[in-house]
Amino acid sequence: MLFKILLLALVIGGVYYFFIKKKPLPKETETMVECDKCGTYVSTKEAIIKDGKYYCSKECAGVKG
Ligand SMILES: [Zn+2]
Repeated sequence: MLFKILLLALVIGGVYYFFIKKKPLPKETETMVECDKCGTYVSTKEAIIKDGKYYCSKECAGVKG
């Protein structure tokens, strides 16, 4: 039964380690870029990229929906 406990501890430890590793600092993952039109800072995840430039919204990007 000791092996089972050891395995369980290993799994818990692995999951714990995995979650910590999967939680990187927001500063490292999200790069803030300036909207080419209005100058608003927006993260690259949310930014709209058009012609190699970043925009904060569809309006600024000139995309008409
Ligand atoms: Zn903008």
